[in-house]
Amino acid sequence: MAQMLERFVSPGKGNGLRATVGIRRGQLLYSAEPLACCVSNRLTKDVCHRCFSRRETLMRCSQCKTARYCNTTCQKQAWSAHKRECKCLQSLIPRIPTDSVRLAARLIFALLSQSTGSSEELYTLEEHESHLSLMSEKRKQGLSQLASMLELYLQQEAPGLAQEVTSALPPSCQEPLSLIAKVTCNCFTICDGELQEIGVGLYPSLSLLNHECRPNCVMVFEGTNLQLRAVQDIKPKEELTISYIETLSLTEDRQRQLEEQYLFTCRCQRCNSKDTDGLMLSGEETTWRLLKDALPKLEEHKAEFNWEALLKSCSHLLSTVGVDVPDENLYKLRMTDMALDACVHLGRWEEALGYGEKTLPVYRQYFPDPHPVHGVQLVRVGKLQHYLEHIDDALDTFKQAFQIVKFTHGEGHPLTTDLLMKMEECRTELDQL
Ligand SMILES: [Zn+2]
Ligand SMILES: [Zn+2]
Ligand SMILES: [Zn+2]
Repeated sequence: MAQMLERFVSPGKGNGLRATVGIRRGQLLYSAEPLACCVSNRLTKDVCHRCFSRRETLMRCSQCKTARYCNTTCQKQAWSAHKRECKCLQSLIPRIPTDSVRLAARLIFALLSQSTGSSEELYTLEEHESHLSLMSEKRKQGLSQLASMLELYLQQEAPGLAQEVTSALPPSCQEPLSLIAKVTCNCFTICDGELQEIGVGLYPSLSLLNHECRPNCVMVFEGTNLQLRAVQDIKPKEELTISYIETLSLTEDRQRQLEEQYLFTCRCQRCNSKDTDGLMLSGEETTWRLLKDALPKLEEHKAEFNWEALLKSCSHLLSTVGVDVPDENLYKLRMTDMALDACVHLGRWEEALGYGEKTLPVYRQYFPDPHPVHGVQLVRVGKLQHYLEHIDDALDTFKQAFQIVKFTHGEGHPLTTDLLMKMEECRTELDQL
């Protein structure tokens, strides 16, 4: 697998990864388990800490009362990585440290137990950048607080991060601040098949991937296993890129986010040509501004799971000012997506389908290459159509979804096999009509 990509120095970008051979769209380039990972704090009760499956009922670690598992098999498999963490968690009950602190601690324990062979890695932790010199004072202060938290958290198992611990770590990782900076700059968000965030993980070799606003590769996860796939045909020696951020946003917003979060200025082709900005801002500004200005409040409702209030505001705005704004407008699209979310949570399927179907032609315009976000949206709408017995439509939508996820997720991914099953169900139901 590793022969398909190699490390190189990318002009103006520092380290990078490139293809060693010609690669076809949809091809799996790399698949890896994390060096260390952990479930997001807000999902500790809903997701197995070993396999990252979401389950209604999970068994709880009787000692730290924080880690949860599908069953004893998952718990046993998790123990070697959890043993030391468990003591640390117990020492802070009822507090749970932030995700990056827990991830940094897990990384230390993984390095100490030496269970993970880092010899295959193209890029070692030692070489990972902490970007500390580029950071604002404010951000550095935030990291210092995390570093103090890390020391407090580790007191039980690695007092002061001293002696035995530090000598086993690479020199640049011995200092808590630099370690926490490396972890926050290089960790990946682990998502489930529906692209919901479930945790964070470190995949050292893939930290070499540079960003592009229209990337030639995407990453999807199966449990904690990361899979890197090509979404364009790639020539030998061509650089491999992913997008670090949501690509469905304005050039100005993408650039700001990349500068603030990743400390570089994107000069990719999409940024230079500002390609979709005009389309995203289509319509009368005085009209769509009303939608744009309402979004922060709606985001609050969403964060608070206040679906009734969210749907009320969205449907009011979309049926009044929204009518005069083209569907392609980015703010209208975001609002329509939020309305869809709210309807699904409230079980209002007919309405959900109405909003969902409105987004599909727009997604098609904004995702010229296969993209997981587009595939998952199609699956979502297809399931609504199927449930509401619009079987012809459902089959058609599922087919479109398959044309995307076969490239982004691959044919063996649970999302894809589930989709194929749904398509089969549709065909059987149509035969019976
Ligand atoms: Zn499990
Ligand atoms: Zn425990
Ligand atoms: Zn860019």
